[in-house]
Amino acid sequence: MTMQWQEHASLKPFNTFGIDVKARWLAQAHNDAQVRSALESAIQRQIPVLVIGGGSNMLFTRDVDALVLHMASRGRRICSDDGERVVVEAEAGEPWHPFVQWSLAQGLCGLENLSLIPGTVGAAPMQNVGAYGVEIKDVFAGLTALDRQTGELCEFTLEHCAFGYRDSVFKRNPGRWLILRVRFLLSRTLSAHLDYGPVRQRLQEQGIEAVTAQAISDAISSIRREKLPDPAELGNAGSFFKNPVVSVALAEQIRTHYPNLVAYPQADGGVKLAAGWLIEQAGWKGHREGDAGVHRLQSLVLVNHGLASGAQMQDLAQRIQADILERFGVALEMEPNVY
Ligand SMILES: Cc1cc2nc3c(=O)[nH]c(=O)nc-3n(C[C@H](O)[C@H](O)[C@H](O)COP(=O)(O)OP(=O)(O)OC[C@H]3O[C@@H](n4cnc5c(N)ncnc54)[C@H](O)[C@@H]3O)c2cc1C
Repeated sequence: MTMQWQEHASLKPFNTFGIDVKARWLAQAHNDAQVRSALESAIQRQIPVLVIGGGSNMLFTRDVDALVLHMASRGRRICSDDGERVVVEAEAGEPWHPFVQWSLAQGLCGLENLSLIPGTVGAAPMQNVGAYGVEIKDVFAGLTALDRQTGELCEFTLEHCAFGYRDSVFKRNPGRWLILRVRFLLSRTLSAHLDYGPVRQRLQEQGIEAVTAQAISDAISSIRREKLPDPAELGNAGSFFKNPVVSVALAEQIRTHYPNLVAYPQADGGVKLAAGWLIEQAGWKGHREGDAGVHRLQSLVLVNHGLASGAQMQDLAQRIQADILERFGVALEMEPNVY
């Protein structure tokens, strides 16, 4: 398949915020050869490259004066199977949720709590995607990436990825590695994680007694559909801020003014606060300025009601950050990648 470079292409269909910026160049990579060819041409032409998947964790604040390389590689396979533990692999451009559903259809457990997260397999390690008490680090078996500095293929183990909360070595070194394919260690026996949010309750409401991985996936999908806006209907990038970890002293200080503070003690001695709760207490829930706003039900989600620019979204986010810092002394960190 020959590779077309489209000039001055709109990125609106390539980001879930629906921000209408232009890419100087846009190309789709369907396989490793096309990835290499695009990167080599870009080096020769001295054009920077921005790799994207589903654009569900991006906020574009300006036109992208670069080659935007959209990962469109497909393929998923079972690499090894000892009857109980099964390693599966998927290409970077595989859409995440259909990949999760495929793994469940093979009778494999481990990815069910990560159902309905938008985006691609290749981007999932970037921020160690997580939901409902599970992160990909819990089932990660390895990944293959291209080192963009040397052109060499690199194999990453769990240790190399240095996964943290919405964090990884890839996120800390943007543009260094292009992830080509990712492997997961799944199991034929379910080890159910039901204690986060209303998952157990939802299964009980549905009258499900024999809990399966597919039942957990369905329950989480239904909760997420109720809770989060569908980007096809209302532009957003999911949670816009990370949940901050603060000192016990600061958490106690806030609690003196807000006795119902939502706080989770961490193993390292810090306390994780719910960013959405802080934003809601500060009165931002449902706030709207033109087409940029905070979701009416979910304060952690910033939304584009239609024609907001990325700069307007960023401006709103920065004012929320400043307000939370002033009121609570807590610095909120943005989760999406701002370009
Ligand atoms: C409604 C909604 C709900 C969400 N819920 C969750 C959630 O529960 N948990 C969670 O963790 N996230 C969540 N997200 C955020 C997002 O879906 C994930 O971060 C997802 O993994 C991003 O995938 P993507 O393909 O869209 O990445 P993009 O947005 O396209 O890219 C994200 C970053 O990864 C880089 N990148 C993309 N592909 C590659 C590659 N192959 N190699 C190297 N770098 C690459 C990009 O340059 C960029 O820096 C949600 C988003 C939305 C819109």
